[in-house]
Amino acid sequence: MSGASAMQLRYALRGGVWMLVYLFFIMAPLFALLIGPLPPARDFWTEFSVAIGYAGLAIMGLQFGLTARFRYVTTPWGEDVIYHFHRRISLLALALVVVHPLILFAVRPELLVLLNSFTAPWRARFAALSTYSLIALAAMALWRSNWKIRYETWHALHIVLAVSAVAAGLAHMVGWSFYLDAPWKRTLWIGLTVFWIGLLLYVRIVKPLLLLRQPYRVTEVRQERGYSVTLALLPDGHAGFRFKPGQFGWLTLWGSPFQITGHPFSFSSSAAAADGRVEMTIRNLGDFTSGIAKAPPGRRVFLDGPYGAFTADSAPADMLVLIAGGVGITPMMSIVRTFADNGDKRPVLLFYGSRNYEEITFREELEALTSRLDLTVVHVLQNPDDGWTGERGFIDADLFRRHLPPRYAAHEYFICGPDAMMDAIERALSGLEVPMSRYHSERYSFV
Ligand SMILES: Cc1cc2nc3c(=O)[nH]c(=O)nc-3n(C[C@H](O)[C@H](O)[C@H](O)COP(=O)(O)OP(=O)(O)OC[C@H]3O[C@@H](n4cnc5c(N)ncnc54)[C@H](O)[C@@H]3O)c2cc1C
Repeated sequence: MSGASAMQLRYALRGGVWMLVYLFFIMAPLFALLIGPLPPARDFWTEFSVAIGYAGLAIMGLQFGLTARFRYVTTPWGEDVIYHFHRRISLLALALVVVHPLILFAVRPELLVLLNSFTAPWRARFAALSTYSLIALAAMALWRSNWKIRYETWHALHIVLAVSAVAAGLAHMVGWSFYLDAPWKRTLWIGLTVFWIGLLLYVRIVKPLLLLRQPYRVTEVRQERGYSVTLALLPDGHAGFRFKPGQFGWLTLWGSPFQITGHPFSFSSSAAAADGRVEMTIRNLGDFTSGIAKAPPGRRVFLDGPYGAFTADSAPADMLVLIAGGVGITPMMSIVRTFADNGDKRPVLLFYGSRNYEEITFREELEALTSRLDLTVVHVLQNPDDGWTGERGFIDADLFRRHLPPRYAAHEYFICGPDAMMDAIERALSGLEVPMSRYHSERYSFV
């Protein structure tokens, strides 16, 4: 078995184990409730509604684990897949938590008085607080852009609402205590909640403390084509970390690592640098990214990484096909620069979509790399000047047919760019009968 296949197998096994651990944490507390003497059974719908309430709370609590950025857990899938799962499974938790009281109200309408939080007992008030927090959480996550909420504001509210939903949910459960009469069951659920909140404290306190001890310094700020700036960073007083080309890190540029929001950026530099140097190339797209060019050389910054599964080293293919749109070129740049440093002669075909010739980030360096590597670059311009004789428009299946050697399924594809472009390319590849296991996507919009 080749090294790459062995690694894929290892990741698949590790992924399977983590899935089982996840299911165990959701199901075990539920089944633990059924051990030992039980209160007299009630009608089916009441018991069913209680079971889904417990399951909803368990799923909500585990969300803290999903977003805790445990590298060992996230590597088999990649961060974007984990965040995608986090979003989807939250909707399931919300549905369970909302359906739980709806069933109860339907089978026992006398419970409707509990909706009046002025007169209801505390355990019902906590239930209402938990449910309303969860509804607000989901609504803000779904419609943040439409409601024009700043990312940083949304992020802070997201955490407050999540803690409120889980803590109030637990208070409701313990307050009702129907299945939690036995002290050990109550301890189990309280312990579980402490564990969930502990995960949050790990992310917000322990991890920042570790980052604080391993700062980086800005060594260079370089203007690039395409409204982008490259930030070069060197570890300050430590060896830094090794990353694989295609991975990314969370950058805190202005504040301390305790700041709620870090910004994720792919590494654009070669992964072969011996001194721990990393570069990130950042396009001006908003309030944080517009300030990158003003970062003074020498500034102390914090970098949490490396993360992500968008890496070429586990790709046992005859050819790498890199497909980039705009600033999605950054992980591809790291891949080709690393190939150049390592003398890697695997064939690489890069499709690179840009607005026009002047805005092609890294244009000159890519040109130079074609003579050092087995690299072909196909530029695709959206609005080229009249004299442009190359490809124009969007990257699509026809373009692939014109440039890719046949046996499309034998190549490994890496896609990074705007969401609409990535969706279109994934459809095109599926139309060319490239199996999903052959293409890898890095989405810059996972939150
Ligand atoms: C894995 C990954 C790698 C990335 N690599 C690069 C790169 O190499 N170069 C590059 O220019 N951009 C990259 N991005 C995108 C970059 O993180 C966002 O453009 C940047 O954080 C926007 O911040 P802003 O405050 O300037 O813009 P805003 O106007 O505040 O935000 C624009 C949009 O960016 C997203 N965003 C904002 N802040 C964050 C955050 N803290 N975390 C995640 N998303 C956020 C939101 O969807 C938001 O709507 C990457 C994103 C991801 C997820």
